[in-house]
Amino acid sequence: MSRLLGALLAAAAAVSFAPSPAPPEKAPEGRPLRLHYTPAQRDAGRYQYVPVSVPAGCTRLEVGYRYDKADGGNAIDLGLFEPGPLDLGRAGFRGWSGGSREHVVVAVDEATPGYWPGPLPAGEWQVVLGLYKVAPPGVDVDLTVGTSSAAAGPTPGLAPRPAEPLQQRGTLSWYSGDLHVHTLHSDGTETAAEVARAARAAGLEFIAITDHNNTTHQLERTEDPELLVIAGEEVTTPGGHANVWGLSGWRSEIDFRVLPGRERIDSLVEAAASRGALFSINHPFLECDGCSWEHAIPPGVAALEVWNGPLGPQTRAIALWDRLLREGRRITGVGSSDWHRPRAPLGRGSVRVRASELSRAAILRAIREGRVVVMGDARTPAPGITVRAGGATAGIGDTLRLSAGQTVEVEVPAVVGGAAGGRAELVWNGEPAGEAPLSTGAPARFRRAATASGYLRVELRAPDGGLVVLTNPVYLEVSGTARKIR
Ligand SMILES: [Zn+2]
Ligand SMILES: [Zn+2]
Repeated sequence: MSRLLGALLAAAAAVSFAPSPAPPEKAPEGRPLRLHYTPAQRDAGRYQYVPVSVPAGCTRLEVGYRYDKADGGNAIDLGLFEPGPLDLGRAGFRGWSGGSREHVVVAVDEATPGYWPGPLPAGEWQVVLGLYKVAPPGVDVDLTVGTSSAAAGPTPGLAPRPAEPLQQRGTLSWYSGDLHVHTLHSDGTETAAEVARAARAAGLEFIAITDHNNTTHQLERTEDPELLVIAGEEVTTPGGHANVWGLSGWRSEIDFRVLPGRERIDSLVEAAASRGALFSINHPFLECDGCSWEHAIPPGVAALEVWNGPLGPQTRAIALWDRLLREGRRITGVGSSDWHRPRAPLGRGSVRVRASELSRAAILRAIREGRVVVMGDARTPAPGITVRAGGATAGIGDTLRLSAGQTVEVEVPAVVGGAAGGRAELVWNGEPAGEAPLSTGAPARFRRAATASGYLRVELRAPDGGLVVLTNPVYLEVSGTARKIR
């Protein structure tokens, strides 16, 4: 039997109220608690916390909320923390549904996607309301909370994962992957199993599931032993989004509550590193509220998304990437589909990653080392670009060591998927350094003398000029030159 409690306002100081009628200490049975938030409150404290008492023996907690969306003028996100301190990185995170659901359940034996099932510790929980948008008149939010102590079944465990590696081809090989995919655990429409099926059908060999602010897709079986599924999260802060890849295990999320301009973004990057995961900045210039990257880019950032599905390759993102590379940062450029629902094509864009085997550890290591080519589709093989100097040969992500004035030769195969009939362009330390047609039977070649340490990368364009392949750098270390690539 479920009995409705109101949100218990045990700590009024923790909650910001507008001068609306004083709320009752405990909401009457069956009636919502009305909260009011203003644009000023949104600006001053993006996250509002509403304490809720959970009694001993509770096996089920339900939270519902309603508000006037004002034609998109208001948007309020929902999440839940267990009792404990609310400091960044310390909160007992229990789940996040953003603006996707008006009613969520957290129980011993089940939970709404985006929330973790399991025992409910007694004490003061916190409903988190994320004030994403608040229209000028302010917004009334009606919150209802219910608990139950009815008998519950066992807590579901994490879905079993296939043993790794899934493939081992003997040498370094290119694997096709999409590093930015959503499910119904956040604002996508499909289950993780459905996404996995679609990924295989699209020709992908691995995906990273990156739901907004949770990793609960790991409770689901993905049913395809041939597809590597990397547990990730799109850490969705008020100052931009970042993917973290490699977060397997219970409640391994990275805290997202960092406002732009706070140095604490470093602690998120460090938290990812401490879990053996990679931190990658998503769509750094995206025209939506809080979507562009406004934080610093700490040294531990591994990758930058320069190609985002619906947007394609982003000129400004590529320019930012070149700036970081010129500063000596080794940061990997990646592309993804940022997939949410079936009508969009999975794997467009995508990456080819040159790894020793198809396993989570090998793929993440290869991404960290820059052995990545960004491509417009999931099936075209990575072009076999080679870079030579003297007797040494380097592939994408490698470092070529040479002496000052030595000639570097770059060879690009003649036919590369959609680039056939188009052209290859050489980019040298961020500057255009030549182009060659991809229209003959012979490979395109570039030659250039290296006078200082730096990098080169290659872009392949279709006959209409559209970018279809973007390689990561080959780094050049010229002996005796001061500028060192870190
Ligand atoms: Zn995003
Ligand atoms: Zn996304």
